[in-house]
Amino acid sequence: MKKKISILIPCYNEAQSLPLLYDSLVSIMTDDYDWEVLLIDDGSKDNSVFIMEGLHNKDERFSYLELSRNFGKEKAMLAGFDYVTGDCTIIMDADLQHPSEAIPQMIKLWEEGYEDVYGKRKNRGNESYLRRKFSLLFYYLLQKTAKYDVLPNVGDFRLLDKICIKTLRNIRESERYTKGMFAWIGFKKIGIEFETKERTKGKSSWSFRKLFGLAIEGLLSFTTAPLRLSTVLGAIVSLSAFIYLIYVLIKTLIIGNDVAGFPTMVILILFLGGVQLLSLGIIGEYVGRIFIESKKRPTYVVRKYNGKKEC
Ligand code: UDP
Ligand code: MG
Repeated sequence: MKKKISILIPCYNEAQSLPLLYDSLVSIMTDDYDWEVLLIDDGSKDNSVFIMEGLHNKDERFSYLELSRNFGKEKAMLAGFDYVTGDCTIIMDADLQHPSEAIPQMIKLWEEGYEDVYGKRKNRGNESYLRRKFSLLFYYLLQKTAKYDVLPNVGDFRLLDKICIKTLRNIRESERYTKGMFAWIGFKKIGIEFETKERTKGKSSWSFRKLFGLAIEGLLSFTTAPLRLSTVLGAIVSLSAFIYLIYVLIKTLIIGNDVAGFPTMVILILFLGGVQLLSLGIIGEYVGRIFIESKKRPTYVVRKYNGKKEC
């Protein structure tokens, strides 16, 4: 029996890219394997679903899973993990920034026994200077604080063996940072380099604000280092306060009290207030996450699925 390969593609407003994507995928879908292309419609506002329906009718290897609204790429990917049926799954973007031509090489490495073949960007496209620097800082912080490697310049373009998919299905947290999960699950990994192309159609739906949110998510969901930071900050401030206390005490005993030092008071009050608010904020971020997880809502909601998996 032939092995089955699933291709999982989260799509948000990709009506223009889908026909091109179809052409580029069909050219690499050889007869050596069975194929399943699962398109996840993440609540698109254009006619993506209509196009997906058309692709499904034309070529039944293509199926789609329609979510009830826009849940974001991270959750759309989890939906995909739940529904793919292949012996391995390739995750890629719909906008043709991830080259289909790299897929045969990924499959070859998988056949050699690698369980997680990830694509490594050679270039980052034409991203702004600030965005590039910001992203480097983020990875630096994450690598310093988390206990496993989350690789920079590695996106979501990758091939995962079904054992990885099975593991990822069990990670149900609703605030998701999937890239961290790929690192967390382990397994035998290898990277291949690819050239990022410009987006062919439509526009990127990641604003700087959304990326910043994802970066915070990455840091908070994979490390508790910020909590440690507020402990350390608290300790330093308390120690300095104690030393200052001794200084003031001795000075008062020797020279007497002349009710000066108003600026010192103001500075101290403001500084301590700041440190306390910062620490409270950090704790709040974690408490917020506990709150969200404790509700145990389903991570995504499906409107329609027309693929092969029994559910
Ligand atoms: N995407 C999604 N849901 C969203 C935003 C994006 O499923 O809420 C999909 C999008 O259709 C694309 C992939 O995620 O296939 C990457 O998105 P995009 O190209 O906007 O991101 P970038 O390439 O700029 O990182
Ligand atoms: Mg893109």
